[in-house]
Amino acid sequence: MDRASTISGMTRRNFLHATGAGFAAAGLAGSAFANLQADAQQAAAANGGKKIGFAVMGLGQLGLGQIIPAFKHCKLAKLTALVSGHPDKAKSTAQKFGVEEKNIYNYDTFDKIKDNDQVDVVYVVLPNSMHSEYVVRAAQAGKHVLCEKPFDISAEKCQVAIDACKKNNRKLQIGYRLMYEPNNLALVDAVAKKECGELRIVEAAAGFSIGDPTQWRLKMNMAGGGCLMDIGVYSLSAARYITREEPVEVQAMTYANRSDPRFKEVEETCNFQLRFPSGVVASCVSSYSTGFNRFRADCTKGWVGVEPGLSYNGNKFHIQRPGQQEESPDLGDPNQFATEMDALADCIINNKQPKASGETGMQDVRIMMAIYEAAKTGKTVKL
Ligand code: NAD
Repeated sequence: MDRASTISGMTRRNFLHATGAGFAAAGLAGSAFANLQADAQQAAAANGGKKIGFAVMGLGQLGLGQIIPAFKHCKLAKLTALVSGHPDKAKSTAQKFGVEEKNIYNYDTFDKIKDNDQVDVVYVVLPNSMHSEYVVRAAQAGKHVLCEKPFDISAEKCQVAIDACKKNNRKLQIGYRLMYEPNNLALVDAVAKKECGELRIVEAAAGFSIGDPTQWRLKMNMAGGGCLMDIGVYSLSAARYITREEPVEVQAMTYANRSDPRFKEVEETCNFQLRFPSGVVASCVSSYSTGFNRFRADCTKGWVGVEPGLSYNGNKFHIQRPGQQEESPDLGDPNQFATEMDALADCIINNKQPKASGETGMQDVRIMMAIYEAAKTGKTVKL
């Protein structure tokens, strides 16, 4: 995809790896993240050390670059199968990561995965518009599903996928890695505990400079939109998990330089505002032409935020409590893909509902459609 893309002059990959701090447990005791880790440890014991088998579908940048290498950090999940349209790539990846050759599928043979008891979960890592179809096929094959964000390009397609998982009694989790990340979790905790007073405003900004104009991310039929669908969804999701409320109305503005070959079909910039029932307003920015990487909760007596806030590594929590200097404690930097895969495995072992549920993914898609409508009409859209 966006190999040549840059974020404030850095490649996207470097950006997402920026300032990896290494895992440090200091300051995490009793936190939401510590609870998550304890759950994973208990589930590992409850399952007698047996891990949940994952098939990774889609060997692109995320699948090959992040997800497959993350299994070595998992307590509860292991890689047992691959689904790819490229036999050579699948074979070499299988050899490198110890996957049996019989457990390689392509998109035509995929449904046979139902007969493979080494696979419990299918992780769908395909272009956005293909997600629901493969969530449905995985559920029909009796497999639980982890599906990358955004869930799909319409709420209707998300609903079909949710229904298929329910009908087949399968778990469905959306790949919102930040909902399991210690710095983002600490931000949510601090707001909930009113450590800086009452929350008034959320500021969320996510963006990078996208590269190759031919990639699927810049095709409306595959991506469903531009920067909002790809990276702005993080700001939207953060606004919802920080407030722990659902927005009631939205205003938005988009921009695309149509003379730039990258933005012939999709938006380059999408700024939007969300109003929540408590009166909190979220002001969100997303961009495919400049780098942003932060979420902040402005409260009546101080503020709390994460910057970087959505990198793969090196996210950093900051807090300015009433009458005190800003503090930036080290909350650790565990592998986010391992944490989210273990979280789903824990839900399977202990029959719990995933936090990053299909419903929450569908709600983001529904709100993004309202954001596009608000931008198109120039009017406030009620949700
Ligand atoms: P990518 O283009 O690098 O990989 C997509 C994969 O899908 C490739 O292996 C490609 O061969 C396969 N594919 C199958 N059919 C295809 C078709 N018709 N057209 C194009 N590709 C096809 O994309 P990616 O960056 O790996 O993104 C995949 C998904 O993961 C997207 O939904 C994206 O939003 C999501 N993603 C999430 C994160 C995260 O941090 N959670 C980061 C990056 C990407």
